[in-house]
Amino acid sequence: MQTLTILGATGSIGISTLDVAARHPERFVIFALTCHSRIAELAEQCRKFNPRYAVVSDTSKSEELKQLLSIDCPNTEVLSGVDGLSFVAIAAEVDTVMAAIVGAAGLLPTLDAAKAGKRVLLANKEALVMAGPLFMSAVQEGGATLLPIDSEHNAIFQCLPTDYGIESRGGVRKILLTASGGPFRTIALDDLSSMTPQQACAHPNWDMGKKISVDSATMMNKGLELIEACWLFGVSSKEVEVVIHPQSIIHSMVEYIDGSVLAQLGNPDMRTPIAHAMAWPERIDSGVSSLDIISAARLDFEAPDLERFPCLALAMRAAEMGGSAPTVLNAANEVAVDAFLHGRIAFTQIAEIVSSTLNQVEVTEPETLEAVQLCDQQAREYALARIDRIS
Ligand code: NAD
Ligand code: MG
Repeated sequence: MQTLTILGATGSIGISTLDVAARHPERFVIFALTCHSRIAELAEQCRKFNPRYAVVSDTSKSEELKQLLSIDCPNTEVLSGVDGLSFVAIAAEVDTVMAAIVGAAGLLPTLDAAKAGKRVLLANKEALVMAGPLFMSAVQEGGATLLPIDSEHNAIFQCLPTDYGIESRGGVRKILLTASGGPFRTIALDDLSSMTPQQACAHPNWDMGKKISVDSATMMNKGLELIEACWLFGVSSKEVEVVIHPQSIIHSMVEYIDGSVLAQLGNPDMRTPIAHAMAWPERIDSGVSSLDIISAARLDFEAPDLERFPCLALAMRAAEMGGSAPTVLNAANEVAVDAFLHGRIAFTQIAEIVSSTLNQVEVTEPETLEAVQLCDQQAREYALARIDRIS
């Protein structure tokens, strides 16, 4: 029996995780479910899974959640705020923490889970991008097991040799990180500036939360994933090649020194990587249908166009700059995407905001959590001021 905390249970990844868990009640028991503010959805999940704790990070919603749960779930205790998130991430009863909060808000509880030596299923790529060195040393010092949920990183993990590590690269030459190219891969460049949030969130292959959907449309998502891959697999950004593959059937590839290229394929459904990480090193049914390769018929590949996707180029630059550059990049992007989703800036201004923030905010070598948070804060303030000026 694995005891599970799901941080961000009401989101797209959280819902898919519960779907997989529900297929294997003999394997998984839910210890805690968390949400930011969608308490009605959280209460519904609690009725079904009867967790020991329900956590709402927005403390103003805690009384309301208590009321919602008082009759149907008298055994579920309500906690709130950042402390509540951390409590359920490190509790002694917990084996596995699914880190599926979106954005920098997920850093603290995910870091705590790593320090506490949990099995950490990492969906929250922003945590790793903003605090790579801190996060990886927390994993090492805490003795945590870090398993990637991002479909690409999960695919790479599946294609790497079992003896892959810092000392032995096991003959790996490079990583091919695939990208769908999102909803705007082929539209006229002149039309990009008028794309609406709704259009940006209409991903051709994946059904995801809004923030990552916009990141997929700008391809910042692939940039964040490039940085994520560097930390997870101990490679430099030069050893990762981004390849556009519009069908999203191949989820990424690993090339070896003998010329072999291993790929992981499957239908674009996050329950596959989620089930893989939940059961690893075993395999369990995920509910994902069998890949019909005959009707898929063809797999296409192309190089990313950095003029169309300046956010990808900015992330590549931040990866090369190192230090706090990825922290600045991530913070500016979160602020800019939020402004775009609220109609304050145009789609193409996301890259402008990120670029000017990366140019203006001082890049340092933050060694502590406080230093990372300060740098995140400075970048947010700069990006917000810039948005205020243009909107
Ligand atoms: P989502 O927007 O659907 O869900 C986000 C979850 O985080 C919700 O449960 C929400 O309540 C919670 N949350 C939001 N703000 C919070 C805050 N300030 N404090 C605490 N909790 C907060 O997002 P998603 O698509 O499920 O993505 C979650 C993470 O997984 C992201 O980091 C994303 O990049 C990553 N990811 C998602 C997918 C996907 O297919 N959806 C694929 C790969 C990686
Ligand atoms: Mg991904």
